[in-house]
Amino acid sequence: MYPAKFDYYRANSVDEAVALLQEHERAKLIAGGHSLLPSMKLRLAQPAALVDLNFIADLRGICRGDDGETTIGAMTTYAAVTDDAAIATTFGALHDAASNIGDIQVRNRGTIGGNLAHNDPGGDLPAVALALDATLHVAGRNGKRRVGAAEFLVGLFEVALAPDEVVTSVSFPAPVVGSGSAYAKFENPASGYAICGIAAYVEVSDGAIRAARVAVNGALDHAQRLAAVEAALSGVGCGDEAAIKAAASKAADGIDEWDFMSDIHADADYRAHLMRVLTAKAVRNACDRATG
Ligand SMILES: Cc1cc2nc3c(=O)[nH]c(=O)nc-3n(C[C@H](O)[C@H](O)[C@H](O)COP(=O)(O)OP(=O)(O)OC[C@H]3O[C@@H](n4cnc5c(N)ncnc54)[C@H](O)[C@@H]3O)c2cc1C
Repeated sequence: MYPAKFDYYRANSVDEAVALLQEHERAKLIAGGHSLLPSMKLRLAQPAALVDLNFIADLRGICRGDDGETTIGAMTTYAAVTDDAAIATTFGALHDAASNIGDIQVRNRGTIGGNLAHNDPGGDLPAVALALDATLHVAGRNGKRRVGAAEFLVGLFEVALAPDEVVTSVSFPAPVVGSGSAYAKFENPASGYAICGIAAYVEVSDGAIRAARVAVNGALDHAQRLAAVEAALSGVGCGDEAAIKAAASKAADGIDEWDFMSDIHADADYRAHLMRVLTAKAVRNACDRATG
C-alpha cells in the first residue's frame, strides 16, 4: 500500500528541525524510517509533512565524558552501536540488544533515538534504557532539557515529548566497578521484535548482588522496571542458581493478567512464563560479566 500524500523537508540542524515541526501542522520527524514508513504505508500514520533528520551530522556518533558517561547521538544506528568495542565491554545489555534487532538492514538504518521515541512495546531498547538508567537529551522551542528514561517512556507508543521536540542524544552513566548488564529476549521469529525481553543490571561485591535494575519489554504495553525482582535479588550470591531462579520467579508478581500483551504469538500466561525464564537468564549473564 502507498502512504497518504505528504510534504518532505530536510533539516540541516536541530534548530531547523524544531522550526520545521513548529511551522508545519501534523509534521513528524523521520529518522531510520523503519517504524514510521511501515505505519504510513498501512495508513496507521498519516503525517502531512516529514522532517528528515538524516542530514544532521551532530546527531550521529558516540562520545565519552571525563566522568565515564557515554552519550550516543539520537541518529546513531544500531550497527554503529554494535560495532563500538567499548559499548560491548561496558554496556553489555545495550550491545546484546542492538546486535539482535531485526536483521542487518534494520540495524543499518534504525536509530537509537527513533527506537526510544517510538516506544513500541516489542522494541528492545526501552527496557535497556531503564536498566542502564539512561537519560534522554531533548531540544525544542523552549531550549534543551534532560529527561530520565522512566519519565520519558510513558505508555504504549507514547513518550514525554512535545510535538515540536527532538531527541538529540541518549546518555548512559558510567557503570560502577563490579557491575555488569545483559539483555535476553524471546523474539518473534519473523521480525525479531521482542515477544518478551529482559534487561538486567547488577552491582556485585564479595560475590553477591548489592543492587539491581531489571526491566521488561514485549510482555506489557510498555517497558517497565520489575521492583519485586530487584528487591529479591539483593544479597543473592552470583553463583547461587537457586536463589537467582527464586528471585526471577517474582518477575510477573503484582501484574494484573489484563495488563499483559496477548496475541497470536503468545498469550498472557506464556509471556509471564517468559518473563521469569528470561529474568533468570539476563541476571545470570549480568552476574557473569560483573564478576568475569
Ligand atoms: C522488519 C523489521 C524488524 C524489526 N525488528 C525490530 C526488533 O527486533 N527490535 C526492535 O527494537 N525494533 C525492531 N524494528 C523497528 C526498528 O528498530 C525501528 O528502526 C525503530 O523502532 C524506530 O527507529 P527509526 O530510526 O527507524 O525511527 P523512525 O521509524 O524514523 O521513527 C519512529 C518514530 O520516532 C520518531 N522519531 C524518530 N527519531 C526521533 C528523534 N530523534 N526525536 C524525536 N522523535 C523521533 C518519529 O517521528 C516516529 O514517530 C524492526 C523494524 C522492521 C521494519
